[in-house]
Amino acid sequence: MSYDIWLSSPHMSDEGYEKEFIEEAFKLNWIAPLGANVTGFEQELADKVGAKHSAALSSGTAAIHMALKAAGVGKGDIVFCQDLTFSASANPIIYQNAIPVFIDSNYETWNMDPNALEAAFRKHPNVKAVIVVHLYGLSADLDPILELCRKHNVVMIEDAAESLGTTYKGKYTGTFGDYGVFSFNGNKIITTSGGGVLVSSSKERIDKVKFWSTQSRDKARYYQHSELGYNYRMSNIVAGIGRGQLKVLDQRVAKKKYIHDFYKRELGKLEGIQFMPSNEWNKPNYWLTVMQVSGRRKPVEIMNKLEAERIESRHVWKPMHLQPFFSEYDFIGAFL
Ligand SMILES: *Cc1c(COP(=O)(O)O)cnc(C)c1O
Repeated sequence: MSYDIWLSSPHMSDEGYEKEFIEEAFKLNWIAPLGANVTGFEQELADKVGAKHSAALSSGTAAIHMALKAAGVGKGDIVFCQDLTFSASANPIIYQNAIPVFIDSNYETWNMDPNALEAAFRKHPNVKAVIVVHLYGLSADLDPILELCRKHNVVMIEDAAESLGTTYKGKYTGTFGDYGVFSFNGNKIITTSGGGVLVSSSKERIDKVKFWSTQSRDKARYYQHSELGYNYRMSNIVAGIGRGQLKVLDQRVAKKKYIHDFYKRELGKLEGIQFMPSNEWNKPNYWLTVMQVSGRRKPVEIMNKLEAERIESRHVWKPMHLQPFFSEYDFIGAFL
């Protein structure tokens, strides 16, 4: 199916910044992974969001995987993960042979419910890490979640794949936890065509992630490996697109806010239709505009009408505890 209006299509800068960075890489024959665009992108992204250290990787999923590994999550460890999210938040828990426990979201934030998290800590006190998500560019209510993580001495990973440019109490999401994850997949607010970045305040952990994601090659004359390696680094070409896209991030956020405000103004007063929540501590990037439909209106009917007009729309993510693949794992509800 092809649409006239897509949900979230890539949008390169009018100025052609991305091409300039790519052409520079071509000129220098710096096509291989790593190079000036990779280090440049890492630095510029970290500067933009106010993170200390960053590693550019092949995807946001790889970044979550590396965050879990850096947090010391391994076989049999328990990891709390937001239930209402895209499966890529949770899959890396399985890559590490760890055990996910899914935590419900609430209506006020559409993200992790602190009460459900507290209940989860009571039930599973030996948890290793918590993955909190900022869904559709709305930030979670981070303070109570952080407080619980600190109290229980547990690593907090922020899945900010959808929320680059979103702030919580004036500070960019992705910079509150021990680790923050950004995605530059083709459907995100800015894209590199595919990629991810892991940020952290620990230089030592980020250096370790860079080591693991370039096949864990020991500093030896011969090919020697003392640890399991991954091929997870971002390429220098892809990073060039990212550097160009970073220059227009604020423009993209402004446009997404305009789109959101437009829908809300035109449709917000209709019975049975509610838009995503707004909270005074949250300045979203409005990556996607999402509405909640109740009463006699059926989401599928609206979707069918939009489809007939060649406008793309989707359901919200199906929660992880309802996924056949994750059905055996525990779920802590917010309203139980
Ligand atoms: C897109 C997304 C990811 C994964 O990012 P990729 O770069 O596609 O691997 C992870 N979590 C959430 C919430 C996402 O939306």
